[in-house]
Amino acid sequence: MIDRREFIASSSLALSAAALGTVTAGTANAEQPAQPKRKYRLIATEEAFASPEQVEYFRKAENSAWTDPDIELWRHFLNTGILLRRLLDVEQERLSIMDQAGVDMHLLSLTSPGVQCLNADAGTALAASANDYLAEIIKRHPDRYAGLGSFAPQDPARAAKEIDRAITKLKLNGMIVNSSTNKEYFDNRKFYPIFEALTALDAALYIHPRNMPEPWNDMLKADVYLWGAIWGFQAETSLHAMRMIISGVFDDFPKLKVVLGHMGEGIPYWLYRMDWMYLHNPADVYKSASGRRLKRKPSEYVQDNITITTSGMNTHDVLEFCHKVLGPDHVMFAIDYPYQESVEAATFMQTSPLPEADNEKIAHGNAERLFRIPTA
Ligand code: MN
Repeated sequence: MIDRREFIASSSLALSAAALGTVTAGTANAEQPAQPKRKYRLIATEEAFASPEQVEYFRKAENSAWTDPDIELWRHFLNTGILLRRLLDVEQERLSIMDQAGVDMHLLSLTSPGVQCLNADAGTALAASANDYLAEIIKRHPDRYAGLGSFAPQDPARAAKEIDRAITKLKLNGMIVNSSTNKEYFDNRKFYPIFEALTALDAALYIHPRNMPEPWNDMLKADVYLWGAIWGFQAETSLHAMRMIISGVFDDFPKLKVVLGHMGEGIPYWLYRMDWMYLHNPADVYKSASGRRLKRKPSEYVQDNITITTSGMNTHDVLEFCHKVLGPDHVMFAIDYPYQESVEAATFMQTSPLPEADNEKIAHGNAERLFRIPTA
């Protein structure tokens, strides 16, 4: 039997790939040979990039004693040529893979965990420079790229200012956060300045996964290796969204628009049970936990405030289910480049069994509306 540490040390590619959900058989040049038939304009809405400055931060952390699970992931990223190259590239390979797959546009976002491992000052500064960098990329390729801005929840007041700058000055298309920050979630009232800024600007917030903070990540990881994209990301991100719903964030900010990837991180499947439990458990158990009773059923916030994307979930059964539960206006196409395959995702969308008009909404129309992307 191979010792687990030896195994991990000898398979860093497999580790980063498995933890992130990347297809390990992917090669440097082609993704898949067959090209999908073009039907709809395709705007892919959860597409990762790295800024050189972000990579430098993680290179410094590579040799540090930091024990954050995402730092551990980055140690392997940095030694995995293909992922790092594809994250940094926006001028060459990315565009040719988009062309090969028939993907018209990437809505770019700084790859997880963004700036959220850093201290408040460094995170705030890196978010601002990454947003400037992203705005320049979009300026060079306005027909191929749009982008979600980053901010550092470590300092909510400065985060609110950066959100305003990113949307009004840099004309970015929305904002992204990689779930929890220093073990805190957005049900915490200290983050309300962030929601005030987002709703004043009518800007959507994409809540993207990262690994659970310790000690929970270790419970996902020990013996079964379920951290990362196979299960841990979904556990972390669905927890984040549920904390916001049950704590009443959407009662305080009824116009707040949240986006969840991966077909809603399992939440659309859970609507009946969350409502049943909320309505049948003694009212005071939720009230005493969060200090209030919700104005509506939990599922109603999912259906009104949340839009999901198809990132990394290329299965028509789930698409049909989510379309039925959330409606055609609350689902958007995404790939999760460079962690998953572009041709496969595009083929999945172009062969969707849903009505044509709804496919148009999912492939591009909803993204154009929610993120104010010019129609082609
Ligand atoms: Mn992703």
